[in-house]
Amino acid sequence: MDRREFLKVSAAAGAYAILASPWEASAQDQEPWFDRPMRWAQLVLVENDPGRFDPDFWLDYFQRVHADGVCLSAGGVVAYYPTEVPLHHRSNWLGDSDPFGYLVQGCRKMGMAIIARTDPHAAWENVHREHPDWLAVDAQGQKRRHWSNPELWVTCALGPYNFEFMTGVHQEIMERYQVDGIFSNRWAGHGICYCEHCVANFRAFSGMELPRTNDRHAAAYQKYYQWETARLKELWFLWDRTIRQAKPTSRFIPNGFPDHVVTGALSDIFFTDHQARSGVIPPWSNGKRAKELRATMGMKPLGGIFSIGLEERYRWKDSVQSEAEVRVWVAEGTANNMRPWFVKFSGTLYDRRWLHVVDDIYQWHYRAEPYLRNVAPLARVAMVYSEQTDRYYGGQRWQEQSRGHALGMYHALIESRIPFEMVNDRLLDAEHISPFRLLILPNIAALSDGQCEQLRQYVRSGGSLVATFETSLYDERGEPRKDFGLGDLFGVSFEGSLDGPMRNSYLRLRKDPGTGGFHPVLKSLEDAGRIVNGIWRLHVQPQAEFPSPVTLIPTYPDLPMEHVYPRQDDTDIRELYLRETGAGRVAYIPWDIDRTFWEIMAVDHGRMLRNVIDWAAHEDPPVQVTGPGVLDVTAWRQKNSMTVHLVNLTNPMMMKGPFRELFPVGEQKVRVCIPRGSTVTKVHCLVAGTTLDHRLDGQWIDFTVPSVLDHEVVALDLTT
Ligand SMILES: [Zn+2]
Repeated sequence: MDRREFLKVSAAAGAYAILASPWEASAQDQEPWFDRPMRWAQLVLVENDPGRFDPDFWLDYFQRVHADGVCLSAGGVVAYYPTEVPLHHRSNWLGDSDPFGYLVQGCRKMGMAIIARTDPHAAWENVHREHPDWLAVDAQGQKRRHWSNPELWVTCALGPYNFEFMTGVHQEIMERYQVDGIFSNRWAGHGICYCEHCVANFRAFSGMELPRTNDRHAAAYQKYYQWETARLKELWFLWDRTIRQAKPTSRFIPNGFPDHVVTGALSDIFFTDHQARSGVIPPWSNGKRAKELRATMGMKPLGGIFSIGLEERYRWKDSVQSEAEVRVWVAEGTANNMRPWFVKFSGTLYDRRWLHVVDDIYQWHYRAEPYLRNVAPLARVAMVYSEQTDRYYGGQRWQEQSRGHALGMYHALIESRIPFEMVNDRLLDAEHISPFRLLILPNIAALSDGQCEQLRQYVRSGGSLVATFETSLYDERGEPRKDFGLGDLFGVSFEGSLDGPMRNSYLRLRKDPGTGGFHPVLKSLEDAGRIVNGIWRLHVQPQAEFPSPVTLIPTYPDLPMEHVYPRQDDTDIRELYLRETGAGRVAYIPWDIDRTFWEIMAVDHGRMLRNVIDWAAHEDPPVQVTGPGVLDVTAWRQKNSMTVHLVNLTNPMMMKGPFRELFPVGEQKVRVCIPRGSTVTKVHCLVAGTTLDHRLDGQWIDFTVPSVLDHEVVALDLTT
């Protein structure tokens, strides 16, 4: 399939943005700046910074690290310029200074794109006194004091504070400073607000009272979610329109929006606010955010905000993380086509250790820039994600921890070193999914009839599917179906019941009695005979002929030890359904292999998932990397080159940070499929700075990367 198809997807998403938005009239007469900045800097001022911090230090630093985009605190809770908007609180330290204006002027001289930051989530006593109706109200009817700073009040995001007051603030900032955009932090509210405006507006929208519960299955709560999303979209439109009136190329950029499809359609540029790890999360989590947004934004520019401090829930906002942790987090973003955006809170520095880390990363990024301006990913496999499943599915015991399905599948793909993209389940049209040979559905439970039909069409045109557990067993609102929406593709029907939580249950792995050989899904498991089963399994009835490489060994006692022996050595109940459907292949796994993998990380489950994916994809992956360690492998096309990113995740702190130090992995043998009609003129490592010998083998090129510390990018220069 042609890589250009992916570009068409981005173009189509752009076209949708214009159709869906009210501002197409002004979209013409402008020079878009969105794609220009590659390295972002964000300085979040604190109230006592004015007069105390050194703005020239920051301007010098931005220049030194080649930052070409900047986000600067302007207003909202605190104004860092001499605002005239009534009730807009000027910093108590502002005097007659204008630190925001000073920084804007300095950054403009350096040719940087400039975004003003506002934060509308909190207000002062003067607002409480003069416009008490602008504040958020809790379920008990009390105005909400700010949870962290009781001097302040929490504002209502969906009422006049945002729609009127903040619109005035945004207008003033634009008129005075002509910035390229406004980025609002915490603009979307903090839980349900019961103020008089929200009560009346929700009643007008739904005829219902505001929900008193967070039970996402309750009708009022589902309605509330729809209303909240519509209201936030209205606010986005209003602020964007206000901003464009002052400067047509400028944009409102929300920090997050509850719907990725809307985000992709409405944004020319976006940023992920996933600043660092906390608790148990692998570093690939940063790349996952990028993939999720790319699924709806195409190749429009995406910044990855990273914190130089710890991001744990105790919120040490003035802290500094270890160098190794910052490096791997940013590398994950870069390998996944995000542009780095560092954020520093407070213009006054308490700990300077991070300065050289960001400097090093950005200097390299600047040198490598032509190879980081990607035009399309080369992945042939995509994992589907479903916001409607996250929202509407759940409530049963076997549906607890349902996010583990996607996380387990993601981790299996990382360990398998398969370059992959993600696909949003509401964008399953041919344009979005035809670049891919295989779609993976990790318990994508809630799917409409229309979505099932799109997947059927995809398989009819030669695409392949891997699906697990309750995929398509619910409609788009999470209402259960009697049978799978995709039952005809899976070749099975649901019997209406399930087993679990299973203890001490296994899977029998056996040769095909016909051929006497092992099915490819059992590769490297040939001498096992059996492996552990998952935790929950659906009862399904085959409606077609299937091979039986994997069958059920039912649970048997795990105590007393004298009684730990299988009561049934084997059954004819398959635990894996494999079908060829014309040019495509469908693998359906009726148990929670992906969620179980996330929970127990059994090597055999990872191995089997990889085998099933390889079998279903039914072609050589465009990039194959063999060698020790855990690497995230991504591959990209640029205008005159292609790149393979290798992010070394091999570290004792891989699942829970922070990394203490980086450990190099040894020799990686790489095999890459080069585009037809292209010749490779040079293969070189952009981090090590070395040129690699390579061998050509038809469409394939082979080379060896001697070592990877944190991140290596191998560039293949192409001529056509
Ligand atoms: Zn409200």
